[in-house]
Amino acid sequence: VTDWQGKHVTVAGLGVSGIPAAKVLHGLGAVVTVVNDGDDERARAQAAELEALGITVRLGDGATLPEGTELIVTAPGWKPDKPLFAAAAAAGVPVWGDVELAWQLRGPDAAPWLAVTGTNGKTTTVQMLASILKAAGLRTAAVGNIGVSLLDVVLGEEKYDVLAVELSSYQLHWAPSLRAHSAAVLNLAPDHLDWHGSMEAYAKDKGRIYEGNRVACVYNVADKATEDLVREADVEEGCRAVGFTLGTPAPSQLGVVDGILVDRAFVEDRQKNAQELAEVSDVNPPAPHNIANALAAAALARAFGVPAKAVRDGLRAFRPDAHRIAHVADVDGVAYVDDSKATNTHAAEASLAACESIVWIAGGLAKGATFDELVAGAAKRLRGVVLIGADRALIREALARHAPEVPVVDLERTDTGAMRAAVAEARKLAHAGDTVLLAPACASMDMFANYNKRGDAFAEAVRELGEGAGA
Ligand code: ADP
Repeated sequence: VTDWQGKHVTVAGLGVSGIPAAKVLHGLGAVVTVVNDGDDERARAQAAELEALGITVRLGDGATLPEGTELIVTAPGWKPDKPLFAAAAAAGVPVWGDVELAWQLRGPDAAPWLAVTGTNGKTTTVQMLASILKAAGLRTAAVGNIGVSLLDVVLGEEKYDVLAVELSSYQLHWAPSLRAHSAAVLNLAPDHLDWHGSMEAYAKDKGRIYEGNRVACVYNVADKATEDLVREADVEEGCRAVGFTLGTPAPSQLGVVDGILVDRAFVEDRQKNAQELAEVSDVNPPAPHNIANALAAAALARAFGVPAKAVRDGLRAFRPDAHRIAHVADVDGVAYVDDSKATNTHAAEASLAACESIVWIAGGLAKGATFDELVAGAAKRLRGVVLIGADRALIREALARHAPEVPVVDLERTDTGAMRAAVAEARKLAHAGDTVLLAPACASMDMFANYNKRGDAFAEAVRELGEGAGA
């Protein structure tokens, strides 16, 4: 689309992506109608702001396709089975998400995208990638699902050489024409199945990230599903499949040899068959799942032509975000670790595997997940479990099946104050040398606004414990 003048665009959803999208499209001359399911006080205030600009807003009716709609721009979270989309399909109206809109509106000399998706490790990998690109002297930013709007970046004044883009499965679902320079799918485990409908549909949406890649499709050698997605993708001629592995790399792979991260895909020196990039100890923290993230970031950076030294410097400069296996404090010889960001079973599995003797605080919104595999895998390392949140019965039942001897305290609470009680119960179960690990394996929204707030509540409760212990 180059001429927006008079084009009838329906924006689905008032929210972090909908409001800016409506304003931008209106500014381009489109005739914009915003439809929104909710009709509360907040929605009315937002609607009033848009209406003052001349944008039509329909509150309390997100299902009806406005007459004359030529394009829908949807909030990524809107489920594909909504009646609005059925009506759009019947009328032959295309649907774009926030990422597709940004992609379509980018300028002719826009920076290429190095894109990352996966069930877990996206934010960490994108931040590592941005750190590596910066170390190479490139103008870049970590953007997308990480919380920095692509639309802002694409339309902004600042010039970039390359963008490190985190994409969610929702965003990919609604981004049909996106074509990255190179992309990585880090791993694929069941998550958000209630939204996508099935594991197949979820994988298919993740796989869109490889469509039209120009230089490299980066996959996880240990996760065959990611390799299958590369094989199914339609890419540009000359685009390579590049694997990353925690083991010794084969040709066209990055991997680990004797504690060194090694690249056998992009070797500048023709005399050599491998290029050393960095040491495992340059990765922060050097836990296995995080080394995998570093290798994926390195693969994308190398695909963009970044020298080995910048990979090492960038990894060294990287600091992980809060609530990702963050050590909060030691109290009475027990370590308290906040992995509130473990919002699904696959993530919790990584942090449970990184500790020895664990009192595990878990529970929240399961999003359609099952817990048998997670619990069976961790059973031997569990000293005890404290359950909170709406779907805790699912975890309790899995524990009864696979770890019947592990003591479980079911707090039967979903109020915000439950975290303090959970930490107190965990303390009773823990012995010196143990780790009390908040890795809920669930989303937080039943009890908290987001995983940050959940992690903060945990850290605060631990601090109070510490003060009590010192007194
Ligand atoms: P995302 O952006 O995909 O949610 P993050 O980088 O924020 O991922 O990490 C979220 C959590 O997932 C971490 O706290 C950790 O528990 C887990 N994790 C990170 N990387 C991986 C990985 N490569 N494999 C499995 N789990 C991971």
